[in-house]
Amino acid sequence: MAEVMKGFCVRCKQTRELQDAKEITLKNGRRALKGKAMCEICKPKGGTVVFRILPALKK
Ligand SMILES: [Zn+2]
Repeated sequence: MAEVMKGFCVRCKQTRELQDAKEITLKNGRRALKGKAMCEICKPKGGTVVFRILPALKK
């Protein structure tokens, strides 16, 4: 699936598309999205790692 993942880039203070975004599980069991923001400001610096906490799955 080519779903566009977005996250808040702390360097730009804006929501950006994430590259290599993947879902991870935190130690406390919560799901989060981890990816890299490749915006024009951050890309020359190798991108900014962005975390986004995902809502818990509803049962
Ligand atoms: Zn950025």
